[in-house]
Amino acid sequence: MNRVAKFLAHEGRVSLVCANTTEMVNEIMRLHDLTPTTTAAMGRFATITGMMGFTEIKDTEDFLTVQMNGKGPMGTLISVVRREAFTSKVKVCVDNPHVELPLKSNGKLDVSGAVGQNGFLNIINKNEVTDTNYTGLVPIVTGEIAEDFTEYFAKSQQKPTVIALGVLVNKDGVKAAGGYMIQLMPDATEEDIVAIEKALENAPSISQMIDENKSLEEIARTVTGDEDIMILAQELDMKYECDCSREKFERGLISIGKEELSKIIEEDGQANIVCNFCKKEYNFDKEDLEELLRQSGNK
Ligand SMILES: [Zn+2]
Repeated sequence: MNRVAKFLAHEGRVSLVCANTTEMVNEIMRLHDLTPTTTAAMGRFATITGMMGFTEIKDTEDFLTVQMNGKGPMGTLISVVRREAFTSKVKVCVDNPHVELPLKSNGKLDVSGAVGQNGFLNIINKNEVTDTNYTGLVPIVTGEIAEDFTEYFAKSQQKPTVIALGVLVNKDGVKAAGGYMIQLMPDATEEDIVAIEKALENAPSISQMIDENKSLEEIARTVTGDEDIMILAQELDMKYECDCSREKFERGLISIGKEELSKIIEEDGQANIVCNFCKKEYNFDKEDLEELLRQSGNK
């Protein structure tokens, strides 16, 4: 279980989400056959977008689609997040999962080198029923992911936010992964900001705290500098879950049009589609495709 908790600090003037996503990031690494560098990138990306499931999604009909492309060798990173009661459900995919770069001079994985620094972060919050959406687009600042999302909250939402994300990878897999997101309420004071800055200067990295088995509450106290934090919700969960189905891929095939469908039937006689997010395979034989062709003809 990937534990997530929400807190209020400094008498309610500061809100905070903390997450331990070690298990989910391990699953993502295996599923997408990631390298250490792309594990760090996708782990950070999945963790922040998953946390946003608790701050940005207000309605079960809402879902977030986040695209990040820094024009680096990984290509586009995509995350789709849904929310069901106390669970944030995340699925991710990336163009090039096998990118591996030399370590940086400080011995760290070169996430920004893999993601790139010259593109955009695009966040779409869509409601399925009303088909309305809100889009926020900001340029990528560093490609290290945490800073890029901080920029999104500052520029697109005018919300001062501190984001830390960390993934510790060793030869056996993901040893620790997680993150936190601190947001100042409009009534936050100068003293609150100074207290948080001071706390962050002395705080160990998020991956180190998770690796040391610190509880989310301990982490929240450490990074806010507030011993009297209030727990808003502590039994939240984040998990990897794909919502693909045969019906969705059928609709996709119908939507490519009569001409394209006929071409597939003639040339291949079948279609084998692999879901980008969960790697599940869906096979459509000639009969299936002919039935879909009839349906697309009725449109
Ligand atoms: Zn799927």
